[in-house]
Amino acid sequence: MTETIIGIDLGTTNSLSASVFEEGPEIIGTAQDACMVPSLLSRTGNGWLVGEEARARLISSPTNSVYSVKRLMGRGLEELEEEIRELPYQVEAAQRKLVKIRLGEESFTPQELSSVILSRIKEKAEKLLERTIEKAVITVPAYFDDAQRQATRDAGKIAGLDVVRIINEPTAAAIAYGLDEKKQGYVAVYDLGGGTFDISILELKGKLFKVVATHGDTRLGGDDIDRVLVTLFTQSLLDQYPNLDLEDPSSRQILRKTAEEVKIALSGSMEVEYILELPEKRIKHRGQLKADELSRQIEPLLKRTFDSCAKALSDAGLKHGDIDEVVLVGGSTLVPAVRKGVESFFGRTPHVAIDPYKVVAIGAAIQGHLLAGGRRDFLLLDVVPLALGIETLGGTFSKVITANTSLPAEESEVFTTHVDQQTSIEINIFQGERELVQDCRSLGRFKLRGIPPMKAGFPLVEVTFRVDSNGLLTVSAYEKRSGTEAQIEVIPSHGLTQMEIDAIMEASFEHAVDDFNQRQLIEFKQTAERVFRGIQMNWKIAEEILDEDQRFSIQKQMEIVKQKMTSEDSQILKAELDALGNLTRPLADSAMGRAVLEELQQQNP
Ligand code: ADP
Ligand code: MG
Repeated sequence: MTETIIGIDLGTTNSLSASVFEEGPEIIGTAQDACMVPSLLSRTGNGWLVGEEARARLISSPTNSVYSVKRLMGRGLEELEEEIRELPYQVEAAQRKLVKIRLGEESFTPQELSSVILSRIKEKAEKLLERTIEKAVITVPAYFDDAQRQATRDAGKIAGLDVVRIINEPTAAAIAYGLDEKKQGYVAVYDLGGGTFDISILELKGKLFKVVATHGDTRLGGDDIDRVLVTLFTQSLLDQYPNLDLEDPSSRQILRKTAEEVKIALSGSMEVEYILELPEKRIKHRGQLKADELSRQIEPLLKRTFDSCAKALSDAGLKHGDIDEVVLVGGSTLVPAVRKGVESFFGRTPHVAIDPYKVVAIGAAIQGHLLAGGRRDFLLLDVVPLALGIETLGGTFSKVITANTSLPAEESEVFTTHVDQQTSIEINIFQGERELVQDCRSLGRFKLRGIPPMKAGFPLVEVTFRVDSNGLLTVSAYEKRSGTEAQIEVIPSHGLTQMEIDAIMEASFEHAVDDFNQRQLIEFKQTAERVFRGIQMNWKIAEEILDEDQRFSIQKQMEIVKQKMTSEDSQILKAELDALGNLTRPLADSAMGRAVLEELQQQNP
């Protein structure tokens, strides 16, 4: 086995680590076990709080807490004037034209503060990988100068890490997609994070990347999208409560947090319902926002990023058409409008198969693996890792594409309505290997509206799942009788690490028998209810063609089925349901009972 050199993306907002496992490169740990450390610190009487633990103290103890240290790395006081004005903590001059950050009675260099984050990452990785970690590849923005790179190296050293190499973030992203294997060409890396935007144009020559142009905006990112939403929310609140003051820290915090949640939800839905709860003001305000509206609102922000892209292209002496590959980096590129904008600007489908907030760490891990003498013998996502499907009646999961289907893949299934005159259908998209959606992962949802009123079971809704070679999933729904249609795009594997996918697969084997029984129970209960309705609707006919004994047996059997509907064993319910079917057969077989027969035959929704 080769030695482990982990990759670390030391970010402005979040930092995370990755490693190359047997199955391929992945983030270390699971989403639950915090593989991602928010780049936040707070000094306490007996040490440091790091990451999520420090978040609350940003508000309760601002003078002891630090964020955005990356912005200060390797820089002098004069260069930082503008930055410092916006930071709540105190930055002072130190020797060699560098700065220190004052926290209470003490002061620290940015390197020292970054090393605290790196130590935490090292500790976490050691715990999760169950071995000691000594070496790492750390990434930095392409525009970092020598002093900033040296400061990052020093931070690693203080954390007890041997930093075997510092690589550029865009280069790491390109390596994650294996673009270094392509030998030559131009790669554009579009990175929209929490508070910064970077565009880098890389030139690949014989497996080596050279940065030929960078441009960007250190004040543009997901936080700005949140602010756009806060403005919308504020307006909507003021429309209803004209005298409301929303400037206090608690209200602002609630608005900001809701904004980010709504933004993230809109990356997987065409519209989102939200609740703004301001307990101090006794306000509970409900609202709704469409993804289209968000796209419209952020257009000016996106335009600024494309202006930067155009400048970078012209600095490099290139035209749009010269770019061979486009790579997306940063959590904010999950916003569909961002993805679409990039696609139309470069006239190329960007790579999206790897989570944009993981891709830099993953590339760094691959670089570490190669430096340790490892081989690149793993494949990029080329199959659907977990089944994809939709929620059907009673919370059951109906798979449309099964796990391990090769990409690109396309499958369709026809579904129908369960209620008469239903004019819309909600399509809830899930990913997983279990029988009930409660045990699967929600990927997104949308509504197919405008279905003309029809009897239940009449509309024919064809749901198509298409996963392109990039891993992007498009789900569309088409009602065949009326021609109404709707669709949404989501990226299925995001947010899951290989460790999590393995755990999900294992759980599905473990629960297979139980899940199957649960699913059958739900389905048999639905059948029973449908049969009851059929019998009730046609009782008049039964009175004509069946004798009293037969009718009594049917009623008695209906009671038994009702009782068994509360049981936990699907097979018992099925046996009694079959018995009821036998008793009602003469009714169904008779000419007049044809309607009943139809009801009975419509067993599957
Ligand atoms: P940085 O590189 O600055 O540390 P990240 O790449 O981690 O930042 O991106 C963080 C940003 O991504 C935040 O603004 C966050 O709200 C946003 N984000 C994360 N997930 C999503 C999503 N699903 N849809 C839209 N934005 C997202
Ligand atoms: Mg980043």
